[in-house]
Amino acid sequence: MFHKERSATPTQNPTRIMKALPTEKANPKPIQILRTVFGYDHFRLKQEELIGRLLNGQNALVIMPTGGGKSLCYQIPSLIRTGTGIVISPLIYLMQDQVDALKQLGVKAEFLNSSLDARSRYRVEQQFQSGTLDLLYVAPERLFMPDFLNTLAQTPIALFAIDEAHCISQWGHDFRPEYLQLAEIRSRFPNIPCIAATATADEPTRKEILKQLSFTPSDLFVTGFDRPNIRYTVVLKKSVKNQLLRFIQTEHPKDAGIVYCLSRRKTEDIADWLTKQGLEAVPYHAGLSAEQRQVHQKRFLNEEGLIVVATVAFGMGIDKPNVRFVAHVDVPKSPEAYYQETGRAGRDGLPANAWMAYSLADVVMLQKILETSDADQQHKWVERHKLNAIVGYCESVTCRRQILLTYFGDTLSKPCGNCDTCRTPVETWDGTVAAQKVLSCIYRTGQKFGAGHMVDVLLGKKTVKIYRFEHNTLSTYGIGKGHSANEWHSVIRQLVAANLLSVDIDGYGGLRLTQSSWAVLKGEEEVRLRKDPEPERPKKEPAPKPSLSNTPEEQALFDALRNLRLELAREQGVPPYIIFHDTTLIALAQQRPQNLEEFGRIPGVGDVKLKRYGKAFLKQVLSH
Ligand code: ADP
Ligand code: ZN
Repeated sequence: MFHKERSATPTQNPTRIMKALPTEKANPKPIQILRTVFGYDHFRLKQEELIGRLLNGQNALVIMPTGGGKSLCYQIPSLIRTGTGIVISPLIYLMQDQVDALKQLGVKAEFLNSSLDARSRYRVEQQFQSGTLDLLYVAPERLFMPDFLNTLAQTPIALFAIDEAHCISQWGHDFRPEYLQLAEIRSRFPNIPCIAATATADEPTRKEILKQLSFTPSDLFVTGFDRPNIRYTVVLKKSVKNQLLRFIQTEHPKDAGIVYCLSRRKTEDIADWLTKQGLEAVPYHAGLSAEQRQVHQKRFLNEEGLIVVATVAFGMGIDKPNVRFVAHVDVPKSPEAYYQETGRAGRDGLPANAWMAYSLADVVMLQKILETSDADQQHKWVERHKLNAIVGYCESVTCRRQILLTYFGDTLSKPCGNCDTCRTPVETWDGTVAAQKVLSCIYRTGQKFGAGHMVDVLLGKKTVKIYRFEHNTLSTYGIGKGHSANEWHSVIRQLVAANLLSVDIDGYGGLRLTQSSWAVLKGEEEVRLRKDPEPERPKKEPAPKPSLSNTPEEQALFDALRNLRLELAREQGVPPYIIFHDTTLIALAQQRPQNLEEFGRIPGVGDVKLKRYGKAFLKQVLSH
């Protein structure tokens, strides 16, 4: 506090002035900081409560979806409490971005990680020790260097914030051994409040985080998992490149998006192909050189409409708020992966799409990968369960969001209205007899053939394979002529999804009956199936508009503001969204402030940004 007061120069930094005020009473309220520094009017979800806890010196474990606003929960108390807020994050490539964004707001923030040279590191450490920093982002390996621990002990600390807190848990999907040491921070600094935050943590993971950090169960705060602005859609894979192209061209021309594939080769192939179709797309996978990956990631952040076609290697910590779509051209391996990957869309809260193309062949391949891996039986059992859950999601006849949220232990009392099954309700039919035909056909052919051959037998085809195995002599040969091949494939997929059939992974992917199949065969259980929509069936209502303004004038002004933003971003070498988010530009285009005072009331415009950019953007608005 003392150091901070000395360093405060009232004309430079509004947050500094507030923080330096000596009496308790004069301390700024969180809501004031929210308005003057960040330019927002209201707190979201549990932000206010969490900020209050930290100001009281209490701890918190926060499970909040991506884009929910976790960072404000520790940034604001760091600005109010005496001392520097220490943010521990494993994502060192994100720190620069976060720190740049804070500096734009006039917050004194720096980072320490292996990417800094000795001289910059020294400079940051000096600033930290002299007490002038509001926030310091630190990589865990740096935190635990003995020298740094000593410095910590001698410098006033406002709080500790542990980002990506699931990394502390061996149950989590991203365990990092160096995170285990964080327990030590807690025992060394028991009186400094600590907030741990993550977007994904199931029950065992949450318990372990609480235990490792010596938190109590009442420190846990879970906000809903719902991302209402994301529209979920699953289509049946036919000719996936063309389906993807049509999706992008109709719903997201000029938008930034991520396309996820299973294999490296496919990312290159699809990126290439999209480029040939006139879109801007680059591949990203672990096989590319580190430089190449960095170039592509930087382009994605700094440009407005680039598509990255990637394996799961891409995206951890991608903070770009205006990713308008995430497309999966292969089925992801679990609902967790799907939720995390689709969660990168629409962090700014504006409409975004999560689109997936799905096929049984994908599922069979994932099962094969799973069964042939070296993992132990327990682990495989868990993974199998997750894969079944994602297949169930794909084949669902009810609201996708409800299924997804239920999986994560969250609830949504009525269908969402913003997923494909809600928008175009799925027709169902009584598939009991069809199911019986398939099941008995599989049984009679010895439970060792795949879907293609089964459909041939049901349709009474004359193939070499059928004659070789004499399947033309079976009672089930040709009993399925009432349905098309596509329909039979759909029936089989849905039976697999409902666990009325399983796929033999050890052999050649043959279909097998399960325990539950018998109830259907004996007529004890009815089967309801979904009718697959025709691939070209038009949507009932148009897709969310990627251009977010209503009138052509608004759109033109929005485009002009976007260009100005890009220009300013280039001058400073920062991503455009660090200057203003799309939400702010849209509000500017719609509300057209006429002077700086009105400009300051636009969401996302705090005092410092108003000073820095108000004039330039206002000029653009007025001249339009
Ligand atoms: P998370 O870390 O949970 O993924 P962030 O903290 O990055 O989310 O916040 C996501 C976005 O929401 C950011 O652009 C942030 O500025 C914005 N935001 C956070 N809190 C609020 C709020 N109370 N009002 C308006 N926007 C907010
Ligand atoms: Zn829905």
